[in-house]
Formats: sequence, structure tokens, C-alpha cells
Amino acid sequence: MRPTFQQIGEAAYYRWQRRGFEHGRHEVDWLSAEQELLFALNYQLIANHRLDGLPSRFLGREANPRCRFCEGSAPRASFTEPRLVLPRSLGNTSLFSHEICDDCESLHQESVGDHLDEFIKSINQGEGEVKSFEPVAAFKGLARAALAIIPERELQYFEDAIEWVSNTDHDLDSRTIGGLDCFLHALPEPSSFSWIALARRIEADEPFPYLLAFFGTGQHVFQIAMPLCVRDEDLEVSWIVPRASSPFGVGRGPVESRLKIVPLASVARRLKLIAS
Ligand SMILES: [Zn+2]
Repeated sequence: MRPTFQQIGEAAYYRWQRRGFEHGRHEVDWLSAEQELLFALNYQLIANHRLDGLPSRFLGREANPRCRFCEGSAPRASFTEPRLVLPRSLGNTSLFSHEICDDCESLHQESVGDHLDEFIKSINQGEGEVKSFEPVAAFKGLARAALAIIPERELQYFEDAIEWVSNTDHDLDSRTIGGLDCFLHALPEPSSFSWIALARRIEADEPFPYLLAFFGTGQHVFQIAMPLCVRDEDLEVSWIVPRASSPFGVGRGPVESRLKIVPLASVARRLKLIAS
């Protein structure tokens, strides 16, 4: 569903009002309002967690857990301890999962975790302390975090994505999958806490990706569309990704945020992906 001219006009007016009726940003307000509405009219939140400043919380069953990534359960798979669902580099200190087995944890850590950490560092700190990383592995790290928190009823649509995330051959398929961009929203003020949110498309036949994942930490919101979802089989190449700096409703995001699209499809090691 597309927003009407009137809906965009009202949302743009509201942005202008929130900025104290400052002139000269009319076009930016209009385009941002259109993207906010495109998201709000076509998506619903299906998961939303704060990641720090709270006592630890645990997803999944503690008794007889089953791994989300290899479908192993005890005694074939071992679950020594609950695992962080996404890394500390994305601000997570308190959200854990019982549904990641020891083998998948160490496999992912080695195959994608370090790359994601270095990618986040390259955004937050510039090149200073950053080691090189593979962009597509960093993308898989974000996708892996989304799959770790997605409600169980949705997992059935992501079998291929789960397999892809766990595949250590990053060259395989990465060039042909498409849509491996990270939408990086830079906010004017750092967020007071880190968060993760997932939103799913409401209607089956709209040209938007089925699942969008958002990661908020510090002054950035990282947004990705999950590839390889069976609900997207008819769209693939021609999908449109609504660029929302906040998944929490029209007018809930910052008035000023800058967007950069960071392509992460490459397997060639990089130090930094965006010019500041
Ligand atoms: Zn596993």
C-alpha cells in the first residue's frame, strides 16, 4: 500500500513542526515522511527487545532446547550455556537465547561474528583500530541475529536463510542473492539504550521484502532486509525497501537522520566501506 499525497503532506508537516518550523528542509521532510509511511502502512512489528541496562532475559526453552540453526537437540547437540543473541558490538549485554547450540555458536563466532564486530567498529570509530573484514560475513552476522530472535512460527519461511548464514563459504551464492545492503541511519543524538526490532510485511502481494531487521546502538540504526525468504520468491530482484530510521511508528524517529546505503555483498576483505 502506498501512502496518499495527503498522508505524506500531513506527516511532512508534523516533521516541520517538530523542527520548530525551520525553513529550507521541505524536500527532505517530504521524502522522509514518505519512507516512514511506506514502512508504517506495510509492516507490523513482530519482535522488539531492549539490549542493555536491564537484567538478563532469555529467549527459548531452557528445558530440552532445540538449536535454531542446525535443529539439533540434546544429547546430539550440547547447550553449555545461554548465548548472546547478538554481539556486544551492537550493544547487547542482556538478551540471551537457549536455542543456539555450542557448535553453531563457535562456528558463527569464527565465520561471521568477528567480521560483524569489525564492521560495526569501522562505522563507530573509523579506521583507527579496525581490522579488515568480509562485508558479506558482516551481513550474515546481522541476519543471524535476526534469525535468533524471530518468533518461532516465522522460522519456517527462513530455512534457506538459516543454511546460508551457517555456511562458511561466503563466496557461495553471495554474488547472486541480491539485496545485501545495510541501510545505515546516523542519528543526531545517541540512543539512551541499544535495541533490536523485527518487522514483517502485512500483505502477501506487495513488492516489499517480507522481513526487515533493525539494530539500534549509539548514534546509528542498522537496517537490513532478510534475503532468501520463501515469502519473497515472487519479488526477489525488484523489491523496494522502505527506509525507516525508526520501526516504532510515524513521527517516533528523529527528525534529522542521515542515511547511507552500505553494500555488503562483496567477499573481498575491506577496512572501511563508507566515506564519511
Ligand atoms: Zn546448532
